[in-house]
Amino acid sequence: MPRYEFRCRTCGDTFELSRPMAESSDPASCPAGHDDTVKLLSAVAVGGSAAAPAPSGGGGGGCCGGGGCG
Ligand SMILES: [Zn+2]
Repeated sequence: MPRYEFRCRTCGDTFELSRPMAESSDPASCPAGHDDTVKLLSAVAVGGSAAAPAPSGGGGGGCCGGGGCG
């Protein structure tokens, strides 16, 4: 589940919430109970492939490496 970072404009605290993407824009209340929060633009790490394997043309090893060597 992706994590979203929010900042409370009342107490200035920042906090993270894990919520479904469908609720990413829903209002969130800070841990202190304030409702005046804004969602920060942060790098959202969605579960899955962290880094796509770069098709490197250098180095020695294996065949094409991208599948389809068939
Ligand atoms: Zn607050």
